[in-house]
Amino acid sequence: MASILVLAEINQDKDVTKPSKQILLTARNIADELKANLTSVLIGGNIDATKIQGQLGSCGVDKVILVNEPALEAFNPDFYTKIFIKIIKEQNPDFIFGINSLIGMDLFPAASFHTGGGLAMDCTDIKLEGSGLFVTKTMYSNKVIAKIKFKDEHKPKLVTFRPNTLMPKNVSPKNPEIINEKANIDQSSNKQKIKEIVKSKTKEVSLTEAGIIISGGRAMGNWDNYKILFETAEVLGAAVGASRAAVDSGYAPHSMQVGQTGKTVSPQLYIACGISGAIQHFAGMGSSKVIVAINKDANAPIFKKCDYGIVDDLFKVVPVLKEEFKRLLSK
Ligand SMILES: Cc1cc2nc3c(=O)[nH]c(=O)nc-3n(C[C@H](O)[C@H](O)[C@H](O)COP(=O)(O)OP(=O)(O)OC[C@H]3O[C@@H](n4cnc5c(N)ncnc54)[C@H](O)[C@@H]3O)c2cc1C
Repeated sequence: MASILVLAEINQDKDVTKPSKQILLTARNIADELKANLTSVLIGGNIDATKIQGQLGSCGVDKVILVNEPALEAFNPDFYTKIFIKIIKEQNPDFIFGINSLIGMDLFPAASFHTGGGLAMDCTDIKLEGSGLFVTKTMYSNKVIAKIKFKDEHKPKLVTFRPNTLMPKNVSPKNPEIINEKANIDQSSNKQKIKEIVKSKTKEVSLTEAGIIISGGRAMGNWDNYKILFETAEVLGAAVGASRAAVDSGYAPHSMQVGQTGKTVSPQLYIACGISGAIQHFAGMGSSKVIVAINKDANAPIFKKCDYGIVDDLFKVVPVLKEEFKRLLSK
C-alpha cells in the first residue's frame, strides 16, 4: 500500500498552522485516490499531544509520529534534519509533503539528498493523472507555470507547497494513533545556541498565511502612514505588507517585505497601494488569486498585471474603502 508522509508545523500557540492543515487535507484527498496511508510527522517541544491529535485527526491523518522534547522547542536545522531523515528511512514513504516555509526550505533539500528522492519546491498545485503525480510551480518571477512529473523510479517524491495555494476537498475526520519517537540528540554536537525567543507581541495575521493582504509601497512616505493600512487590515482580517522600496526607505520592517528578496505570499486578495509593480515585487505576490492596485499613475506597470485597478491617490481611496468594507462586513 502506498504511503504519504506530511511534515506538519505548529505556530507559537502550538497549534497546527493553517498551511499545514491545507497540505494535510490535500494529502488526504490524494491518499483516498491512491488508497494510501497518511502519516504526519511533528517535531517540537512542549506540545500538547491530545490537542495535536485532534487537530491532525480533523485533517484525516491515520498516524502521527510525534518527536516532542524540550530541546526541540526552537527550530534547530541540524537536529530537525537528522530526526526527519531518520523517520523517512524508517517509514519509507512514497510521497513526502511539507510547507515551503523556512523549516521546509531547510529540511526538504537535505531529505532529498540523503534519500535520493525527487524534489519539487514551492509548488502551487498537485494532481494525480493516471498513475502519474504532477505538481505545478511558477518560475522566472511568475512568467512561466511549469507542470512537473516525477519519474516513477524516484522514491520518495518530495514536494513543498507555497502556503494558501492548495484547494483541498473536505475529508472525514479520523482518530490517529500517536507514536512517540525519541529524538536521541547529542547536545554536544549542537552548533547553535538560542539565547532568547521573542514572541510576536501582536495577534496580527501572519503575511504568509493571510487570506487577504494590503501592502504599501514607497508612496506611503513614512511608517505612521501605514496606520491606514493596518486599520483597513483589521476590518478585513488581513495582513499588511510592504515593497522593498518602502523597506529600504525605512518606512516598514523587512519582516513585512513582499517579493523576490522578501516573503512569497499567495492570498485570495492582494491590495497593492502605491506600488509600481516591479518584476521583483511581482515575484513574491504574482500567484495571488485577485490583485487590486491603487496608484495615481495610470501608466504604472502594476495596472498591466492586476485584476482591478483604481487610478487615484491612495490616501484618498484607502479610507473610503475601509469605511465601505466596514459597512458591508457589518451586515
Ligand atoms: C535583486 C533585487 C531584488 C529586489 N527584491 C524586491 C522585493 O523583494 N520586493 C520588492 O517590492 N521590490 C524588490 N526589488 C525592488 C524593485 O525593483 C522595485 O524597486 C520596488 O519594488 C519598487 O517599490 P515601489 O513600487 O514601492 O516603489 P516605486 O517604484 O517608487 O513606486 C511607487 C509607486 O507609487 C505611486 N504613488 C506615489 N504616490 C502615490 C499616492 N499618493 N497614491 C497612489 N500611488 C502613488 C507611484 O505612481 C509609483 O507607481 C528588488 C530589486 C532588485 C534589483
